[in-house]
Amino acid sequence: LLDACGGFRSTIFDETSALAARHEAINLGQGFPDQDGPAHMVAAAHRALDAGLNQYTPAVGSPRLRKAIADQQERTQGRILDPETQVLVTVGAAEGLTAALLSVVRAGDDVVVLEPYYDLYAAVVSFIGATLRTIPLRPPHFRPEAQDIHNAFSSRATAVLLNDPHNPTGTVLAPDDARLIAQLAVEHDAVIITDEVYEHLRFVGNHVSVAATNNRSLLGSEPADLTLAHQVAERTLVVSSASKTLRATGWRIGWVTGPGHLIIGVRAVKTYLTHSPAAPLQDAVAAGLEDSCQWVRDLATEQGERSRMVAETLHELGLSVAEPCGSYYVVADYSPLYQRWGVSDSTELAAALIERAGVALLPISAFASPVNAGLYDGWMRVAACKQTATLEQAMQRLRKHL
Ligand code: PMP
Ligand code: GLN
Repeated sequence: LLDACGGFRSTIFDETSALAARHEAINLGQGFPDQDGPAHMVAAAHRALDAGLNQYTPAVGSPRLRKAIADQQERTQGRILDPETQVLVTVGAAEGLTAALLSVVRAGDDVVVLEPYYDLYAAVVSFIGATLRTIPLRPPHFRPEAQDIHNAFSSRATAVLLNDPHNPTGTVLAPDDARLIAQLAVEHDAVIITDEVYEHLRFVGNHVSVAATNNRSLLGSEPADLTLAHQVAERTLVVSSASKTLRATGWRIGWVTGPGHLIIGVRAVKTYLTHSPAAPLQDAVAAGLEDSCQWVRDLATEQGERSRMVAETLHELGLSVAEPCGSYYVVADYSPLYQRWGVSDSTELAAALIERAGVALLPISAFASPVNAGLYDGWMRVAACKQTATLEQAMQRLRKHL
């Protein structure tokens, strides 16, 4: 039976959270916040339940939420989207990514992906019977090499999965790298699926989607670049959600936006997976998106401060740390600790840290393909999305034990 699932079982996130709970460790493994989203959004959820929004919405999502998503994309990325044909509401980004992959990729195809990667990508690509071709982001800077980008593309590439800002490394994609990947996707006629769940959590510069045609800082200022930008927008599905932007990971509201000719396919798959997400929560997320610009800006500032605090502490402890530029995560190389802790890899160290230091972190090797896992040995991820006092307590525990 397990073979039928390609060997995929429970996730590293669930397993680590369970182990952390068992040892009463501070859980900086699974990335979820310990505070609620905007108060007016939570109040809107209560009101929606009372107002009787308790039946199915259209499979594409509630009209109010689709409009709020289109408006938010125009405001923040300059993308002009038709809420009727270019916006699809999904059960979290997770369903958006799954439906996007199922609509584009067939058994035997290649999917190009930045490595390390979010675990769902490998699972869904394996369920389809396709193959991941990875572009390794190598420590300590986690930037792609041009040669690795070229090597990942072949005539079998039908999709490219980007994730920017990046989980698990906390890096952001440099414009030159995004441009090269976009050019190769166009050359190989591959669809780009860009996972932008951390789009509002960028601390250095502004987030730019590869799908934003008007953004010349990404694709350059030559006339040919404008053509490229349009070619890219026409082949790109953008996936995002309320989970991180509005601190509502448990609400399971996400969305996919892009050109109508691609959204049609994603919509077909999505309709038969779940039909539509929870109606009252769609309404509440619409309220959240309509009126949270300042709240979301503050969220990014606050997350930047937390991530930098964690990075500085780990640096003071003598670890090599990658600069956190976005997302929730801070990665550092803990291999200098192996000897003192009597462990021989980062998976063993993660277990030891939970049991002996009372802090749960995740090994980056858990986000890598078996062939490249060794590249990341020693590197571990801190989910720095908890309140400052919790992070400080966790850093205190690490300080005592490192
Ligand atoms: N993509 C990435 C990169 C993630 O880190 C996560 C987890 N938040 C998801 C997708 C899934 O997001 P959601 O909770 O909206 O399903
Ligand atoms: N996105 C979260 C992380 O990377 C976890 C999501 C999940 O539990 N599947 O930690």
